Amino acid sequence: MKHAHVAVLFSALIALFSPAADAADTLLSPARVWTGEGQPHDGWSVLIRGEQIAAVGPADKMNIPAGAERISLPDATLLPGLMDLHSHVLLHPYNETSWDDQVLKESVEYRALLAGRHAAATLQAGFTTLRDLGSEGALYADVAIKKAIHDGVIPGPRLFIATRAIVATGSYGPSSRSYRADIDLPVGAEEASGVDEVVKAVRNQGARGADWIKVYADYRTGADGSAHATFTQAELNALVQTAHASGRKVSAHASTDEGMRRATLAGVDSIEHGYGGSEATFRLMAERKVAYFPTLTAPEATSEYFQKYQRGGAPTPSMQAAARAFQLARKLGVIIGNGSDVGVFAHGDNARELEWMVRLGMTPAEALRAATVVNAEVLDKASSLGRLREGYLADMVAVRGDPTQDISVLRNVQLVMKGGTIFRRP
Ligand SMILES: [Zn+2]
Repeated sequence: MKHAHVAVLFSALIALFSPAADAADTLLSPARVWTGEGQPHDGWSVLIRGEQIAAVGPADKMNIPAGAERISLPDATLLPGLMDLHSHVLLHPYNETSWDDQVLKESVEYRALLAGRHAAATLQAGFTTLRDLGSEGALYADVAIKKAIHDGVIPGPRLFIATRAIVATGSYGPSSRSYRADIDLPVGAEEASGVDEVVKAVRNQGARGADWIKVYADYRTGADGSAHATFTQAELNALVQTAHASGRKVSAHASTDEGMRRATLAGVDSIEHGYGGSEATFRLMAERKVAYFPTLTAPEATSEYFQKYQRGGAPTPSMQAAARAFQLARKLGVIIGNGSDVGVFAHGDNARELEWMVRLGMTPAEALRAATVVNAEVLDKASSLGRLREGYLADMVAVRGDPTQDISVLRNVQLVMKGGTIFRRP
């Protein structure tokens, strides 16, 4: 009896875990395939089995199961799913609702529902992975959003999340000086002062589900609203040590040269914005292999909202600062990833950042590498994401035209696949 039960159980398990023969196979045959390396390959196909890529190359050299679904994309380039490693799915553009009003007036529940819509728009645009750098006052809502996507409750990209982010006491928004002193304002991040509090914040956020720790190394704390480094070197060192000891990487918001320098010396893994970085600091970042996310679209968007900037017009001072920093970092060999600060501008418009990188000097292929291969390395996922290669997760996007020649064709999305599931079809 016992043995018979075991045998039944065993065959049931085999049925559960064997790939349903052929049914899960898909063959995508675009005009060309860009794998993440070198030039696109005309006439190649990609075979997908389950969640993974089974083969990449000419279809006539593949062993294609008879029942495979065949999808031809005759005008398209198939490339790895795009990644944006600086997003805020819990924010929406400030010309719709100011940042203060989003944090102070919109409930966390409402913001989480909006975020579901934002995640869907992101995936439809071909962005299959985001690193979401802070819930901006929505507490741990990003943990729930990540779980809902992972469980298939809602469509969205793979999320790597930072939860609340860590700021020096009194340094973040909503700015106390803008409100009556006798009301308790919520803060857009978790405040900490001193080594003990910083260490505790890292541990708490890790326990709640943070994949990354986001720290603000500087902020607009000056009497005149100018940006200054906030955390001391000792606080930043302790923060990074605690995060790394738990297997988490650290992303630092830093726009001032001093904030960037301290963050780099502390050993952070990436620096966001960096608009005020000096040659010496970018050199230090290059030496220490600290990745740089230039967020070029954010100053363009805020210039549109608050300075009457019109797209294509003369760049405002904040846009000029961003362009200078990007070009300097690139010249000095800093690792540059793709991170846009989307949420400041509309979700699904993530390609704007790649267009900016090309406008400011990168080749289209270089910008595409930033959004695929380079970003996968920053995430420590270079062996499963960011390339079209056998055994990698089947995250990919097909766009009409050749984005290695013209980056703007990233807007012409024809097909999106994440983990072998098609979320958009021609
Ligand atoms: Zn941001």
